[in-house]
Amino acid sequence: MPYLDGELASPEQREVELHLRECEPCRCHLVAERARVAALRARGEPPLPPRVRDRLATALDLEDATAARLPFGHGPFILPLLSTLVALVALVLFIRAVSCA
Ligand SMILES: [Zn+2]
Repeated sequence: MPYLDGELASPEQREVELHLRECEPCRCHLVAERARVAALRARGEPPLPPRVRDRLATALDLEDATAARLPFGHGPFILPLLSTLVALVALVLFIRAVSCA
């Protein structure tokens, strides 16, 4: 992203350009990112300032790390478990609401 924003020092800029020449996935990524930024600009929404984007990315990483540390975070069953819990709570609330009416 700093490359895309033209924020790299020229040696780094050159390094990225050399890498892009060799690396198809990164080239595709760059094209996609450019298109995304251009689309945002076309809609009149300026892309997030790099500092804000970095903080956002850090916050999201932190959230991912926290989620991975949950006791059920490693299994695929955390979501079904959660939705079962939510369904149970909803059921209890529903029964209460009905019995009060
Ligand atoms: Zn690459």
